[in-house]
Amino acid sequence: MRDQLRIRLNRTVSSSLNLHQRDILRECCDEAFELYGAGSRDICVMPISTTDWSSELRRIGGKPVVVLDMEQINAMSYLVYREICVDRPIFQYCEYMIRISELLAELNEVDAALSVVQLNHNRLSQYARDCGSYPGLSRPMFFGGIEALQIFLARVLPSFILGHEIGHVGESQREIFKDAFAAIENCWEANQIKEPVWGEGPSSYRFMVPSIRQKFDDYGMPSGCLIAGIERSRVMAKEIALCLSECKADFFGLILSTRLAAKYNLPPEQMFSMLLETLRAIDRFSVIRRVVPQIPRGECRGSVDFGASRIACRIFILVRVIKGIIEKTIPVPPETLQYWTSNPEVVDSMLSEKGNKYIEHITLANDATSRGGVYLGSGAPFPVNLPTERDAQEGDDLTKKLMMPLYWPFHMPENTYKIASQSHWNGDGLPAGVIGFASAIRDATGVIMQATPIGVECGVNYKRKHTRGANLLHLLHGVRRCVEARNLLAMPRL
Ligand SMILES: [Zn+2]
Repeated sequence: MRDQLRIRLNRTVSSSLNLHQRDILRECCDEAFELYGAGSRDICVMPISTTDWSSELRRIGGKPVVVLDMEQINAMSYLVYREICVDRPIFQYCEYMIRISELLAELNEVDAALSVVQLNHNRLSQYARDCGSYPGLSRPMFFGGIEALQIFLARVLPSFILGHEIGHVGESQREIFKDAFAAIENCWEANQIKEPVWGEGPSSYRFMVPSIRQKFDDYGMPSGCLIAGIERSRVMAKEIALCLSECKADFFGLILSTRLAAKYNLPPEQMFSMLLETLRAIDRFSVIRRVVPQIPRGECRGSVDFGASRIACRIFILVRVIKGIIEKTIPVPPETLQYWTSNPEVVDSMLSEKGNKYIEHITLANDATSRGGVYLGSGAPFPVNLPTERDAQEGDDLTKKLMMPLYWPFHMPENTYKIASQSHWNGDGLPAGVIGFASAIRDATGVIMQATPIGVECGVNYKRKHTRGANLLHLLHGVRRCVEARNLLAMPRL
């Protein structure tokens, strides 16, 4: 059965799983079975590692199979690690560029994939020169709580992903956590209408942000946006159901990962911020997957639909669920309750109104920067004279609602999208993840749309190496080796 499924998945294998990974997975599964009872033994877990970096739930002969992609867990680990250690934006940028190149290779666009990775390498060389450390790579990092981080990445993160997928099974099949699910639905009901943003303005659906489509003219230049309003209302019910189902699955993920966090004494406040970072990483990957295939190939007419991200809603609900657990309005196993109430002050301050605002702000940044990155990547200049909040206020209700989201990408500083200007980033301003992501989307769009010839630095010519028969995946991952070794000459033998 496994072989059959492997063929049907039709994925490119990324790397083989090692024994250590299998051990960790077995532990997560055992904990899950213990938590969800005998019935959960019907669920088959199939670990794989592919360039798709995504886990999913399949059914074979009525039996649920969780296809757990370890490469997804790896991908998130790299990013969470870098964000928590306050690594510089360039190193997050590298990860996104590698994933984009993998995706392009998967789409059979080998040339574009190689160009993306070549540009990635060049940016890294430029960074080393800016820091005066060439060919070494200077990586000032902050190592507070590195032990906690390692526990999180090795044990807790995989259990969150596994728990999430099992949650999708649990939702349709079992009555476990029935009360908790009802509580999540209530939380949704209570929060779905958002108060007006400006004074007496209109109230709106919090979880349903408008979907924006960026159009490009015959020369591949931006030519206005379409905002899907009315047409989306037809699929609204379906989207709400999907969103809610993700939130419920996250709840399973939270319960299972809390179990592992408690077992390995991971402090709740660190668990909290790392979980949020994980969700943000999941979102950025799904944006890449959604946007990259749509970017016009060459300077030609086309459009990119940015869709609506579900992550804002998932984070919003997750934060409130943790709050609900602490306030005992959401029923959970006693150990989960004990874990989250073990250090009430710290968790309380994180869940304050101010904390929530910050969390939501950063979450919306993914939507904004992906759109800004594609816009600027096409070669269009950074827009000036943007309408201000006051302009928006003078408009009618609809204008107020739509004008600000439309210009969000350009309310961020222009150098958010320029990795070359961030070599001396020191932790002030926007988080490294936001900058790395925005710049990677911009650069990758430039490569895909403009097919710019990209110079070769320090002797690594990816295209030539590829034509000489070097393994493609090996090539695409080469930059990561340099980052890890902190030296540009550390390319693997190709
Ligand atoms: Zn899901």
